[in-house]
Amino acid sequence: MADLGNPRNTIAVIQKYQFVFQKKFGQNFLIDPHVLEKIISAAGITSQDCVLEIGPGIGTMTQCLAEHARWVVAVEIDQNLIPILKETLEGYSNVTVINQDILKTDIHELVRQYNEGRAIKVAANLPYYITTPIIMGLFESQVPIENITIMVQKEVADRMQAKPGSKDYGALSLAVQYYAEPYLVANVPPNCFMPRPKVGSAVIRLTKHQTPPVKVKDEKLLFRLIRASFNQRRKTLQNGLNNSPEIPYSKEQILAAIESQNLPATIRGEALTLEQFAGLADFFTGLS
Ligand code: SAM
Repeated sequence: MADLGNPRNTIAVIQKYQFVFQKKFGQNFLIDPHVLEKIISAAGITSQDCVLEIGPGIGTMTQCLAEHARWVVAVEIDQNLIPILKETLEGYSNVTVINQDILKTDIHELVRQYNEGRAIKVAANLPYYITTPIIMGLFESQVPIENITIMVQKEVADRMQAKPGSKDYGALSLAVQYYAEPYLVANVPPNCFMPRPKVGSAVIRLTKHQTPPVKVKDEKLLFRLIRASFNQRRKTLQNGLNNSPEIPYSKEQILAAIESQNLPATIRGEALTLEQFAGLADFFTGLS
């Protein structure tokens, strides 16, 4: 069965299987072929690629991916979708469906098994309730990845690509930009999904950096500093770090670190670049 991007075909499948949408799994299926095309094109999928799809749903994007890629591995948590996927993907010999929670999946093993350890591409219309753990899990686990092209809440896409000083800038912006180069592919309104989500959506591509844009001696400390700085957004950086149980340094050491970056004592975390956070982290590392 082809062309699930056509809403009529999606409705037919849903009715045939009497499928009940589960809110707890963030199920909003794409019903717009133009959006699908944009995702495939932005991801730059070629016949050499192995693609990991997170949450294939009834297989709408999976079909498009299978038509462009060498192999598609689709990880879906909802067992009620498995018989549906069996039918909708029946004509494709280059798709593996795995009925599993992506957060509990050994993606390194999938990369070894399906792409001989070489970098894969990730594509997904993500379940919004776990966007951040999925993305950060992919980055932090150091799975070899070329790019991640995903549908997320518009507000999350804005945060991922925000620059210092903007209201959307925060720990997510810095974490994403440490690992990847974000590019906003398209804004997607609620009527492109079934059922319609309450929020606007966007497709964003994250192209993994070969090496991080800043060098830091202690990556974990860098992220602890970033988290602590944005935990209390309204406070100055100095007070934010001082009040954080994650940061063991004295008031004087914190002030010295801020001054080492030629920053005023009254500065807020939201004004600092990734380079400046890295500078703070290296200053603290140098103390011990
Ligand atoms: N890709 C389909 C589409 O675009 O029409 C469905 C997208 S829907 C927004 C999210 C999908 O992720 C659903 O199929 C849902 O069941 C699945 N999902 C939710 N949580 C998951 C998890 N932890 N692991 C794997 N799949 C999950």
